[in-house]
Amino acid sequence: MYPHLEQALKHHFGYDSFRLGQRDIITQALQNRDLLIVMPTGGGKSLCFQLPALLKKGLTVVVSPLIALMQDQVETLRKNGISATFLNSSLNSYKVRSREQYILGGKVKLLYVSPERLLSERFLPFLDLVNHQIGISTFAIDEAHCVSEWGHDFRPEYRQLSTLRQRYPGVPTLALTATATDRVRSDIITQLQLKQPNVHIASFNRQNIYYEIRPKKKYVYTELLEIIRKTEGSGIVYCLTRKKVEELAFKLQHDKISALPYHAGLSDTERSENQTKFIRDDARVMIATIAFGMGINKPDVRFVVHYDISRNIESYYQESGRAGRDGEPCRCTVFYGYGDLKTIEWSINQKTDPQEQLIAKHQLRQMIDYAEGTDCRRTILLGYFGEQFAGNCGNCDNCRHPKPVEDWTIEAMKFLSCVARCKERFGMAYIIDVLRGSKNQKIIQRGHEKLSTYGIGKDKTVDEWRMLGRSLLHQGLLTQSADGYGVLKLNAHSWEVMRRQRPVSIAVSPQQIATWKTESPK
Ligand code: ADP
Repeated sequence: MYPHLEQALKHHFGYDSFRLGQRDIITQALQNRDLLIVMPTGGGKSLCFQLPALLKKGLTVVVSPLIALMQDQVETLRKNGISATFLNSSLNSYKVRSREQYILGGKVKLLYVSPERLLSERFLPFLDLVNHQIGISTFAIDEAHCVSEWGHDFRPEYRQLSTLRQRYPGVPTLALTATATDRVRSDIITQLQLKQPNVHIASFNRQNIYYEIRPKKKYVYTELLEIIRKTEGSGIVYCLTRKKVEELAFKLQHDKISALPYHAGLSDTERSENQTKFIRDDARVMIATIAFGMGINKPDVRFVVHYDISRNIESYYQESGRAGRDGEPCRCTVFYGYGDLKTIEWSINQKTDPQEQLIAKHQLRQMIDYAEGTDCRRTILLGYFGEQFAGNCGNCDNCRHPKPVEDWTIEAMKFLSCVARCKERFGMAYIIDVLRGSKNQKIIQRGHEKLSTYGIGKDKTVDEWRMLGRSLLHQGLLTQSADGYGVLKLNAHSWEVMRRQRPVSIAVSPQQIATWKTESPK
């Protein structure tokens, strides 16, 4: 339909061909469709609004929350001879005025702006003028997951972006994000009021990453040291607190590893110095809190270690995803222990908003599921992004060192029947209590001790039932509500199991159960 697109791509960006998905997206953008684009970081999202911006009449307004990234993108575009500019709080009023004049002169194709600036009382009338004089061709909302409380980086000002739809109903919107679960995706569509958007979702699979979970034992530091010494090249070690970052960096330096700290408590100069040293390979290992990483593009990171577990899967995917951007093999390790869960739970309980608490608990539970899962890690991870993966990736600990697989069809039938008998209104812990015949007051009050499934699972431990429950979820044979309560629901596959039309095997790990027995959260 647009035979000239390849030529335009070559002419403006110097690339020979589109990456998977880009051509379709760009074609639809040129047809003025609303679009939601979900692609992993580095997938090539920017081109999806940059090229249409050049081919369409008028100005494309790009909303981006990170000032540093905005400046980077504009610089790169300018180097390619593309007329782009940005407006944000780093500019004085003289510069702002002169850039505004330049825009009104119709000389700019792409304007990057922060959401705060965009929604300010002074800016919207300016935008009206732009629309009137030269026309706004598209709104591109980068990092669109920021509209959702269910994402990993909620920003209330993003919510107000729906103003744009009301003020400029005829201008199409492109929403872009690197991480979006079903929930976040539908939030973006509703909050930004996208009109019958075409949704493009690229694969999130990072084939070159080896994923592993190790129980966090007493000698975790020695294990870390071993990983660092055995792996060539640079790496990032994530910790939950600044204090731990400092301690660990100090200890590693003492052990002759060139490691530097990075956290929000350091001065701006110190942070940027450390970052530059890491990028230039003057320091091999960065010990960091999650403050490190946004916008860092070091392609040859060979390992990412989570010395403490992440708070949620989305952050974990982002943080681990900083390894191996060059496509070469790399390793992502999580040290998983009960103590860290307690720390995170404590901080969740400090939240005053009950809705926020629920969301954070739900996200933590997903992370625990990943860490304790016995199925292929890649399958579990991609499952959270709504992506089906056939399993047996051959590049994670569970696939390389498979646990023995056992037929648990009978147990699965018991479990699912119990969910059905409890009318699909309870979470995993409750169902397991009923199965194991617990004398829990709530069970007695509800009369659930009279159910036929009460006490039929006494022969298995809580951890064994939990392992089965988790595996049923991972295999799609059971569903869990995403509202923070984690209510278990049956689906069509669950009924096949209950009707004996479908056998269930699960990977069992007696050793793991033994190790974590006293450690798994209740
Ligand atoms: P994202 O915004 O999805 O994180 P970017 O838009 O920054 O990713 O793109 C990542 C890299 O891929 C950039 O260096 C970009 O120039 C490059 N890139 C994007 N599209 C193409 C293409 N069709 N051919 C070659 N390189 C591309």
